[in-house]
Amino acid sequence: MKIEHIGIAVKSLETSDRLFERLLGKSSYKQEKVAREGVTTSFYEVGDSKVELLEASNADSPIARFLGKKGEGIHHIAFGVENIVEEIARLKNEGFEFISEEPKDGADNKLVVFLHPKSTNGVLVELCQEKA
Ligand code: ZN
Repeated sequence: MKIEHIGIAVKSLETSDRLFERLLGKSSYKQEKVAREGVTTSFYEVGDSKVELLEASNADSPIARFLGKKGEGIHHIAFGVENIVEEIARLKNEGFEFISEEPKDGADNKLVVFLHPKSTNGVLVELCQEKA
């Protein structure tokens, strides 16, 4: 496992893309809408890891709810795993709770699943596996 990316909730990708371009000294390598999750994402490479900016694409989006409750900021930490199904089984066995135990298509060609933050010290944890 490694930290694959850190997800940051932002109000406006347009504004925050300009900010992160200046901060990191490079452009976003990918913008992608994930309709099912109600988000538009923008990715930056930072060494072996990435930053994923997340903008809500509708009012019911989990990102819209997060922004309403907490404002802009770190939304989740994503750990890259080799085999997401085995890792879900291992963590369930360890007593961790998942938001959904079924891996889904996420942004950036990944299968993803989220652990419930109540079982991880309030941190929303994503597991992601590169799709073949
Ligand atoms: Zn993510």
